[in-house]
Amino acid sequence: MKRRFSARELFELRNTVPVDALIENVLNIPVKQSDGFFRFLCPVCNEFQTATNLSTNLARCFRCERNFNPIDLVMIAKGVGFVESVNYLKRLSSTPLAHCDEKRHALKEMLNCIGKPVSGGAS
Ligand SMILES: [Zn+2]
Repeated sequence: MKRRFSARELFELRNTVPVDALIENVLNIPVKQSDGFFRFLCPVCNEFQTATNLSTNLARCFRCERNFNPIDLVMIAKGVGFVESVNYLKRLSSTPLAHCDEKRHALKEMLNCIGKPVSGGAS
């Protein structure tokens, strides 16, 4: 079976879209702040026993004891396969802002804008 995506491409995708902005603004997963931490509703167990790590760009559920990278999150939240998830993230990250780490905040705001029309639609 031919691989459609290179390891490097996947690595970049897992790191260019900030996981917290993806959860909150793009996937519209319920979130809350507790004790100063960003918590999201785990799409697997539906609990808020979660956290995100912006240095590794992973979301973790302490109850499921598993980490979710952005590709995993899109797959679970949207119920799509790996290839679809990767293509979805590629579209999201195909903005110049996404490739500049200092612009993380700006990207988050941009995702906020993208996220808006999505809410209310789907599912
Ligand atoms: Zn969980």
